[in-house]
Amino acid sequence: MNFELTAEQKMIVETAKEIAHDFGPEYWREKDKKHEFPEDFWKSLVEAGFTGIVIPEKYGGGGMGMFEMLLAMETLVSEGCGLAGEWFLCLSAIFGGLSIVKHGNEAQKEKYLPQIAGGMEFCLALTEADAGTNTLNIKTNAVLEGDEYRVNGQKMFISGADRARGMLLVTRTTPIEKAPKRTFGLSLFLVDLPNPAVEVIPIEKHGINYSKTCEVYISDLRLPKENLLGELDKGWYLVL
Ligand SMILES: Cc1cc2nc3c(=O)[nH]c(=O)nc-3n(C[C@H](O)[C@H](O)[C@H](O)COP(=O)(O)OP(=O)(O)OC[C@H]3O[C@@H](n4cnc5c(N)ncnc54)[C@H](O)[C@@H]3O)c2cc1C
Repeated sequence: MNFELTAEQKMIVETAKEIAHDFGPEYWREKDKKHEFPEDFWKSLVEAGFTGIVIPEKYGGGGMGMFEMLLAMETLVSEGCGLAGEWFLCLSAIFGGLSIVKHGNEAQKEKYLPQIAGGMEFCLALTEADAGTNTLNIKTNAVLEGDEYRVNGQKMFISGADRARGMLLVTRTTPIEKAPKRTFGLSLFLVDLPNPAVEVIPIEKHGINYSKTCEVYISDLRLPKENLLGELDKGWYLVL
C-alpha cells in the first residue's frame, strides 16, 4: 500500500505550515488575552482555500475530502496554532460546509457553499443545558404551521454564534414520547443570522477566548420549510 501524499496533499501541508508559522503561540496568547477573533488568521485560511477544501469545485471549493481537511488541520495545530488550528475550520467548513455538501439540496448548496468557501462563518447549535452527551434529550422544538416551522428553545455552549451568519440548528420535530424510538424525531435546519428571534449571549470562559461560546435563546423563530436540511425526523443519523 502506498502512503505517499499526492503533490496536492503535500502542497496543503506546506501551505498550512507557512500559515502556522505566521500565527504562532504568541499570536494566540495575545488574541486570547484580548478576547479577540483572529481576523487576519481567518483571512489567511480563506485565501489558502482551506475553508473550501471539502466543497466541490462547482461551488467554488477545492473538491477534496476530509483526509485533505485533516492534513490542513493537523499541520496548523502541530506547527504553532494549537487548538485554534482546527477550531474555526471545524465550525464553518465542517459543521456548516460538510453538512450541506452531504445532506443539502441543490438550492441549499447554491446558496451556502460558495459563501462558506469564501469565508462565511457558521455555527452548530446542538447542545442544551439538559442535553450534552445525551443529545437525544434536546427540547428545542420545531412545529410545522402551514408552510413554516415555528421554533422555540434554548441552546448552550454554541461556539461562534456571536459572529456566525449561518447556523446548523438541531431540533426535535417529533416529541420523544411520540417517537417510535428515541433516535427518531430530530431534524436539522439552516438558519440565517442575525435574526431577531435568536438571542445570543456569550458565556464567560477561562480559555479559548479568541472564540466566544454562547447561550442561544430561540423565541418563535419562523423558518420556511425549505430550510430543513436532509430528511425530516432523521437528523440524528445525519449529525452522527
Ligand atoms: C468550549 C466549548 C465549546 C463548545 N461548542 C459547542 C458548539 O459549538 N456547539 C454545540 O452544540 N455544543 C458545543 N459545546 C458543548 C459540548 O458539545 C458539550 O459540552 C458536550 O456534549 C458535553 O455535554 P455537557 O457539557 O452537558 O456534559 P455532560 O453530558 O453533562 O457530561 C458531564 C460528564 O459526565 C460524563 N458522562 C455523561 N454521560 C455519561 C454516562 N452515561 N456514563 C458515564 N459518564 C457520562 C461525560 O463524559 C462528562 O465527563 C461546547 C462545549 C465547550 C466546553
